[in-house]
Parts: sequence; C-alpha cells; structure tokens
Amino acid sequence: MGFFDTLSETLTSTGKAVGSKTKEAAETAKLSLQISQEEARLKKAYEALGEAYFKNHENDMPEQYAVYAVDIRESAARLDSLMKDRQILKNQKRCSSCGAWMPNEDRFCGKCGAENEILVRETEAGEVKPEETKETETTEANRKEGNPSEAMEEEDGMAEAEEAEAAERAE
Ligand SMILES: [Zn+2]
Repeated sequence: MGFFDTLSETLTSTGKAVGSKTKEAAETAKLSLQISQEEARLKKAYEALGEAYFKNHENDMPEQYAVYAVDIRESAARLDSLMKDRQILKNQKRCSSCGAWMPNEDRFCGKCGAENEILVRETEAGEVKPEETKETETTEANRKEGNPSEAMEEEDGMAEAEEAEAAERAE
C-alpha cells in the first residue's frame, strides 16, 4: 500500500468515526427527548391517581397519607384566598352557582338569582375601588424593581437642566 492509499484510508476511517459520533449524539438526543416525555406522562399519571384518591377518600384516608392531605388542604385554601383577592382587584366575582361574572358588591346573581358572598377587602370596609388598588400595587411593584418610570423621569430632568444651561450660555 502506497502513501496516498494509507492517507486515503486514514481519512475514510476518520470520516466514519465522525459519522458514527454524530449518529450517536442524535440517538442520544432522541432518547433524552423520549425519556423526558415519558417522565412527564408518568408524573401526570401519578397526579391523576393522587387527585382521584383524594377526592374519593378525603375522609377515610389511612394515617400514612394524612401528611399529603394537609398540604393539599393548605394549598387549596391559599389558592382560594389568592383567587378571591384577584377577583376583588378586578371588581368581578363568579357566581358560585352558575359561574357568571358579576360585580363584587352584588349579592344576587343577575343570571340565575343565586345568593353569593359579597366580596369586600377587610382593610377597606365598604367600597372597593379597583383603580386605587391598582395604583398602589403598581407603585409597590416599581419600588421593588427599582422603579423604572422614576429613573426615566430623572433622565428627563437631567436633559432639561442641560438644555437650560445651554440656553443660558447661548444668551
Ligand atoms: Zn348565577
């Protein structure tokens, strides 16, 4: 075998090695995808079992599952309270009977007539003013995130001062 034959054989086998590496990587990626899809399916199946079990055995659960039940009840209560807060903010609540939207201060549903809880924030007995509430929330959010609108105002203020100085110099 001459030099060029050897060289060509080396190049070919290197090419084959690279080719199989690429193929291996593709196979690995494909398997990883399938694994994560199957993990998601398994998780969903466990969740479905847990939910079905909780719904059917909430009151006759063996002691060893009670710890999970506590977490579920606490989380459900927090979720309920958060959803109520959001409804109060938007001044809209859903009828507990038919699900129609209605203002917080209405007791009876306009659609089905069912009696509903009047939603009022405990801090503001009586009126609920969603605009004012929104304003407060936004201000608070800005304060936490370094208030971008205030930063812009400062920039504008600087620009104005520079303009005034320039005007003075020009005179
Ligand atoms: Zn209703």
